[in-house]
Amino acid sequence: MHVERPKVNSVAIELTAICNQKCDYCYNEWREDNGAEIPEESARLLARVDKMLDAWDIDHVTLTGGEPFARGDVWRVLDALKTAGVRVQMISNGGLITDQIAQRLAPYAPSYVQVTLNGPDRALHEEHVGPGHFDKTVRGIKALKKHGVPVVGCVVVTKKNGPVLDQILELWHSLGVDYIALSRFSPAGYAARHAAQLLPSRSDLLESFRRGAAVAKKHAMRLHCTMPVPPCSLEVEELAPIQFGTCPIGTSMQEFALGPDGQLRNCTLHKTAIGQVDDILREDVDLQALLAAPEITEYRKETPEFCKGCLHEQSCGGGCGAAAEWVSGHARKFPDPFVWQHIDDELAEGLAAKRRDGKTHLEMIL
Ligand code: SF4
Ligand code: SF4
Repeated sequence: MHVERPKVNSVAIELTAICNQKCDYCYNEWREDNGAEIPEESARLLARVDKMLDAWDIDHVTLTGGEPFARGDVWRVLDALKTAGVRVQMISNGGLITDQIAQRLAPYAPSYVQVTLNGPDRALHEEHVGPGHFDKTVRGIKALKKHGVPVVGCVVVTKKNGPVLDQILELWHSLGVDYIALSRFSPAGYAARHAAQLLPSRSDLLESFRRGAAVAKKHAMRLHCTMPVPPCSLEVEELAPIQFGTCPIGTSMQEFALGPDGQLRNCTLHKTAIGQVDDILREDVDLQALLAAPEITEYRKETPEFCKGCLHEQSCGGGCGAAAEWVSGHARKFPDPFVWQHIDDELAEGLAAKRRDGKTHLEMIL
């Protein structure tokens, strides 16, 4: 019997490094070579899941990847979580979800499957994710809905698609999906290479969110911005009904990430392993003790110099530390690149130069 297990709000289990798409905004570190170096062993994956379930009282799990349906043993993980009575939600690009897979998934009753569309049409969506995926994703969405699996829509809001966010939301509405996660582009992992092309400025984002808010009002859609938008950059109050949150790391709402390599991280976008543990399966790794690691408990105590004295220092803490880590080399020394691009000349010039010469690779700038 499980007794006195510490509560953990959520773990995003990255089932696999492999994906059928290669999205420019993908925050996976291993997207370039599709995880060639990361072995897939069913027994180890299931043992890691069991170890977490034994150690922690987990409220819910997000199954993600890579693409979770690229992994044949996704069903064994779903079985384990069902037996443990842990709620599941999934993040998928939808492209591998056939009628048969949707039918098989339905009895597991996931809270939802979140699927992303980044354009109102094939051309703009595929400009973000690669050719040949739009029709398959729409087929997947329709299959899930047909079998009664709740679908949450997602739009990664970028510099390219921000101007037509209203049209993308109209597409979601026409597909019968009215709850949408707006994931404003954040340069982390593979995506950090594409910051120059995809990172919206504050005025880009304000304009696109205004368009989004108008469509949300028209169709009574629920829009939730899943990445923090620091209040020093936008007056979010005027963007109702879009809902905004703050970074949950170090709070009771944190969602940890378990990588396909067995490393536990502060969230899916973060780079470093908590406690420098290379695989939680190692015998000497005590998962309950790991929750007291300074990477978690100290995270909110440090804020960027720029943010000292700000009214929002405690709640906002500088925005997305993971993106700051990828772009500026440290999670807590500099604010979110979304803010920092408007403050730091070096970052602004680096982004502008790469926009001009069309290069996609953003080197560490600081
Ligand atoms: S904490 Fe920093 S990033 Fe957040 S609103 Fe204040 S100054 Fe901006
Ligand atoms: S670091 Fe960024 S991606 Fe990670 S939980 Fe915080 S806001 Fe979200």
